[in-house]
Amino acid sequence: MTPVPVVEAKGTHQDIGIAIGRAVPDRIAGMVRNYQLLFEQAPHLKLTWEQAARQTRQYLPFIEAAVPQYLSELQGLAEGSGVAFDDLLICNCFEELTSDLLFEKCTVVAFAPEHTQEQHTLLGHTEDWLPIDREWQYVVRVQPDDEVPFIAAVYGGLLANVGLNGAGLAQCINSMYPTDARLGLPRVFVGRHVLTALRMSEAIERALHPRRAAGYNHLLADENGELYNLETTARQFDLLYGRKGYLAHANNYLSPRLRDLEDQPDQLIGSHVRANRAEHLARQFVRRGAVTRADVQRILSDHVNHPYSICSHVEDVPLLEQSVTISAYLLEVQTRTLWYCYGNPCQGEFVPIPLEA
Ligand SMILES: [Zn+2]
Repeated sequence: MTPVPVVEAKGTHQDIGIAIGRAVPDRIAGMVRNYQLLFEQAPHLKLTWEQAARQTRQYLPFIEAAVPQYLSELQGLAEGSGVAFDDLLICNCFEELTSDLLFEKCTVVAFAPEHTQEQHTLLGHTEDWLPIDREWQYVVRVQPDDEVPFIAAVYGGLLANVGLNGAGLAQCINSMYPTDARLGLPRVFVGRHVLTALRMSEAIERALHPRRAAGYNHLLADENGELYNLETTARQFDLLYGRKGYLAHANNYLSPRLRDLEDQPDQLIGSHVRANRAEHLARQFVRRGAVTRADVQRILSDHVNHPYSICSHVEDVPLLEQSVTISAYLLEVQTRTLWYCYGNPCQGEFVPIPLEA
């Protein structure tokens, strides 16, 4: 029994969107309702839903020029779910609209095969977000006509970003807060494009789309044990290679070249503490040798600095300050398996979901 629905989709990008939309319409509509509530509760955003729709339409020409196929995917998602396309576009441009508002999300780690018990590339990811979106989560297993198949963990009406593909490439993502954000290709569309890259250099090139609106950290790993933290802002980037055979990351820039481009670094202290803690634990496990999936789960469940820990429990505060690990994943590249844990990993169980049904 998987803890969330696993949605199968194949065909054209329009077909894929329609299939996902038909399978989980309530989860897609639920996220839109929550984001409308968030806008109401964040008066300092000074943005109504209608204004947000107008603003997000300014991103459309960039999406159309760069990745029209994912616009079709989103249009299919609207058609299949019965949710308005404009509302789905707002969800997929949410970070572009609210980048100054929602800090402290997601911790990732990765290990190269030489350090793991089964000689597999292993990645771990905590999805830290507002707990009101926990119930909208699901997994997609997708076979596009014109791309490599992939499996990804998603929620609501967002395009898939975090997962692995049939060419043996895996991606985890950390939100980042650069000061050079601009109108351009929204982050979620960049991440979707990276997810189906066939090789590492292609993944990196896709993440560095010249007209990207802002930046993420893309943790990229392949079955050869190549590991990168690719930190991006809208105009700059740095490639941090996993020389030691392991990596950790959270929401602050590690590259000295990019630190000056970090918006409100004093708001990201918790991220530093999580990133350092994850690296500390990763180093300990590597020294001991033969890192297992249980070890990676142990990192994702860590409670040092609770409730602002890697396994995040920041719930008893106003809505906009909440941050909870709503799910956690292990990506095992060689076996093409996503191990999914619904809710906080300190309480949940990781269930294997293979790319091949
Ligand atoms: Zn916990």
